[in-house]
Amino acid sequence: MKKTLVFTLSILALASSAQAASLRHDICSRGKLVAGVKYDSPPFGYLDDAGNPVGFDVDIVKEVQKDLSAFCKKTVTLELKQVVSKNRQEFIQNGSIDMAAATTTATFARMDSVDFSNIYFVDGQRLLVKSDSSIRSVKDLAGKKVGTAQGSTSETNIKAASPKALVQSFAQYTDAFVALQQGRVDAVTTDSTILLGLRASAEKPTDYKIVGAFFSSEPYGIIVKQDDSKWRNFINETLSRVGSDGTYKKIFSKWFGKGTKYVLTDPKSQITVPAQYPVRR
Ligand code: GLU
Repeated sequence: MKKTLVFTLSILALASSAQAASLRHDICSRGKLVAGVKYDSPPFGYLDDAGNPVGFDVDIVKEVQKDLSAFCKKTVTLELKQVVSKNRQEFIQNGSIDMAAATTTATFARMDSVDFSNIYFVDGQRLLVKSDSSIRSVKDLAGKKVGTAQGSTSETNIKAASPKALVQSFAQYTDAFVALQQGRVDAVTTDSTILLGLRASAEKPTDYKIVGAFFSSEPYGIIVKQDDSKWRNFINETLSRVGSDGTYKKIFSKWFGKGTKYVLTDPKSQITVPAQYPVRR
């Protein structure tokens, strides 16, 4: 009798854990993946001439969509929603999006509100200034106006690296860059690759230069809601697949390879960098 009860209870426990709620299941049921991407961070996420969101992060999301269609055994469509640095965690928490591939640095502080996939890109923070600027590094920023985005690690890092800089935080990096173009700020600061993207988007990119050494480490992870390991691991499996079947390399060369507007020469931004870990609080 006792044995039967234990057996029945363990079968029940097994059944409920197999069906534990996961977005992976919900996405299959609704047949649609809703992903957050940036519109202000070329070449990771921005609008092309036709107004469609494109970029490195958008391509990564499309790989997750592809794997979902196979897993769910039906076509899973994709809806892309704009996020900015300040609202991406909130959008995950309130369920407006299933995931965000949005240049998000994995930090232990952010892990208090969202979970991160494995790291899929590594960058670091630098400065973008006008070509004729005398600013050469964070040491030259005392009393200077520096634009960045609200809610970003860039905002926190620059305040720590240059306490005397006058930091102005904008909703979007593109707003910060317009402020630089119009002379309302003296520099823009964020991850070097986004700076490369902003510079390339200018009418005359040679009017701007990226200066100074890296002063932070920014390992990017995809964010998802907390405590949903089936969904998080599904994304990790896609990242693992694209890493081994050549897709990651293809996407990487499409955006950062030789002959592209965003060609990367710095080894820090190569995925082969082994130190892929979350960083500071
Ligand atoms: N990667 C940094 C961050 O997550 C800066 C870029 C961004 O704001 O998305 O805050």
